[in-house]
Amino acid sequence: TAQLIDGKAIAAQVREQVARQVETRRSEGKRVPGLAVVLVGDDPASHVYVSNKHRACEQAGILSFRHALPGDTSQQALEQLIDELNADKRIDGILLQLPLPAHLDARPILERILPHKDVDGFHPYNLGRLAQRLPVLRPCTPKGIMTLLQASGLKVRGMDATVVGASNIVGRPMALELMLAGCTTTVCHRFTRDLESHVRRAELLVVAVGNPGLVKGEWVRDGAIVIDVGINREEDGRLVGDVEFGPASERAAWITPVPGGVGPMTVASLLENTLFAAERHDAMELETASS
Ligand code: NAD
Repeated sequence: TAQLIDGKAIAAQVREQVARQVETRRSEGKRVPGLAVVLVGDDPASHVYVSNKHRACEQAGILSFRHALPGDTSQQALEQLIDELNADKRIDGILLQLPLPAHLDARPILERILPHKDVDGFHPYNLGRLAQRLPVLRPCTPKGIMTLLQASGLKVRGMDATVVGASNIVGRPMALELMLAGCTTTVCHRFTRDLESHVRRAELLVVAVGNPGLVKGEWVRDGAIVIDVGINREEDGRLVGDVEFGPASERAAWITPVPGGVGPMTVASLLENTLFAAERHDAMELETASS
């Protein structure tokens, strides 16, 4: 049976490492990194996510500025807040918590965030850099998955990889990460005709759809690495992924549990990105000062 990839433990290591580096910065007299989290409306799940991010920042010594706006905030007011945060020197990272209320359009807001403060890695600049093999700020969930693989000592170069799901926030950047790491990558989505055949071929399988049990355990290739990004709530309140966990772990060599697999890595990557952005801002300020 498969070895479990313990995302909780690996995320805790990453968070400690970020905390140490923040502390080193402080002891060198450098600025403490700052993250602004923008939340519009009262979606309960979003409030939970934002609180988690806030707490993780606190524990790592990163300043976190919470901007909770009422549900009827206008597009213009939101744009104005982004402009202020872009100009604020204490802020290294800006995160817009999605989804936004229906009357707001997320795309122009995401594109308004300065690329070097885009710690979610959703700006076309950052996705474009990843696509061209020159990553700067990388989307948190796929980045976290690459950290899981690395921390488990799994070398993926040359592997046949299949990504199921092609969203802008998970599936697509995941495929770019895997290509960058040297995988031969197949991407499946809602129009894929024969999902089973693509899953069966995969030495490395990443599933990010949001459909419990979509991937049958018996489809999993013997000895495969299975990364389940899906988070689905069952009627009894349990959280499950997109892969049939029991039968899949009979065949896989490595598998992530849900919860406790990919989930905790997303926040860990966010802290890494915020620290990375702060280090780059120092370097950019030095450049400006010397020119
Ligand atoms: P999304 O709805 O934006 O995208 C789903 C993707 O799945 C689409 O590309 C769609 O084409 C594809 N799809 C739908 N039905 C399919 C099918 N039958 N066969 C193959 N592909 C199919 O979702 P998302 O934002 O990418 O999130 C996916 C899942 O991952 C959700 O369960 C979400 O909760 C979870 N998630 C977890 C984390 C985390 O662990 N930190 C982060 C983000 C998302």
